[in-house]
Amino acid sequence: MTASSPMGIPRPQVKTLDEILPHEPLLMMGAGPVPIPERVAKANSVVINHLGSVMAEVIGQVKAMARYVFQTESKWVIGVAGPASAAMEMAVANLMQPGERILCINNGFFSHRMAEMALRVGAEVHELHVGVLEAADPERVRKAIEETRPKVLTMVQGETSNTVFNHSLQEITKIAKSYGCLVVVDAVCTLSTMPLKMDEWQVDVVITGGQKGLSSIPGVSLLAFSNEAWAAAKDREKPPAQWCFDIQLAENFWHKDGYHYTAPVSGIMALHEALKLVCDETLENRFARHLRCSKALQSGIEGMGLELFIPTEARLNSVVGINIPEGLTAGQICRHISDVYRVEIAGSFGQPIVRIGQMGEQCREHNLFRTLHAFGSTMRDLGIKVDQPNGMAEMESYLQKVPRTLYQVA
Ligand SMILES: *Cc1c(COP(=O)(O)O)cnc(C)c1O
Repeated sequence: MTASSPMGIPRPQVKTLDEILPHEPLLMMGAGPVPIPERVAKANSVVINHLGSVMAEVIGQVKAMARYVFQTESKWVIGVAGPASAAMEMAVANLMQPGERILCINNGFFSHRMAEMALRVGAEVHELHVGVLEAADPERVRKAIEETRPKVLTMVQGETSNTVFNHSLQEITKIAKSYGCLVVVDAVCTLSTMPLKMDEWQVDVVITGGQKGLSSIPGVSLLAFSNEAWAAAKDREKPPAQWCFDIQLAENFWHKDGYHYTAPVSGIMALHEALKLVCDETLENRFARHLRCSKALQSGIEGMGLELFIPTEARLNSVVGINIPEGLTAGQICRHISDVYRVEIAGSFGQPIVRIGQMGEQCREHNLFRTLHAFGSTMRDLGIKVDQPNGMAEMESYLQKVPRTLYQVA
């Protein structure tokens, strides 16, 4: 101690960011974060007083736009400084008390997370495991609800890890409501990429993050509670253990222009711009753009002779899972396409696939062509026989077949 120099710990020799970042930015085509529009990037550099009247106006607009995106008239839109997982935790920690029952539909890595969070609350957790290549089956869910009689049912709309789409969400919600359950839906990768009607489908809590479908930055997330869920979350003996995630404290900032903690001002500005872009585009056009681009990419991949992981009926469009050809690893593919072609795609959590995202700004034709070309070239470079010209042609012909504007969303 006494021998330490007056200078203390010496300062480290580090590089500048410019020295670390690649000269040519990588095209972010993985499972998130996704590229952000210029307006979002610009807003992300703004810092203002987080409690002034300007902030109050911004928050008012964020809530109004979020209600449109969530398709709810509920007043209870709330944000959190944190990843989408923080919004998940906010839902679980406020709704659940020790000993209460929760049923979590487990489609994989992300939908299991809600069960982990509920365990930490001390809830009695039941999980309904769904096969890797399947969507949740409403009748199996009904049986599990009858057996466990949970207060809360959680499920994911799109399971990003294995690229499964829970297409029976609406039916499952209806069943759960008929048993009096509160329904919590993780729409992190799907919100604003495909239909989700919170009020009409009777969903009680919808959770999303910034860095996926919304094409904002990671680190600020949103969720919406129905009146019933909000009342249930407030009706408890003790506040939740997590002070930061307590909705009664968060209400001060999000609904009363008051203080909870210093709000992530820049991230909220970015989110505001991202939501404004969704409103300008309209949900209908945005869904159509996502569907058209994702299907075009899928036909391009198959046109090269590669296989998609999930059968058509349960396949998610927001993130496309591709079987890894024999002899290769996800790490090899992702490294090569990044190093050589400056395109970033993702491996997976536990599945033998690589994943290409189709969320927000990823669904632009120029990004599709660059990505598919880079992917095909990567396969060839790594010694896999693919018909790259045919893949590119299949994608182009799909795009020509399906016009940009007239596309009908199911
Ligand atoms: C990405 C993702 C999450 C987690 O988001 P973070 O921002 O990493 O916390 C949760 N659920 C789904 C469906 C996701 O795609």
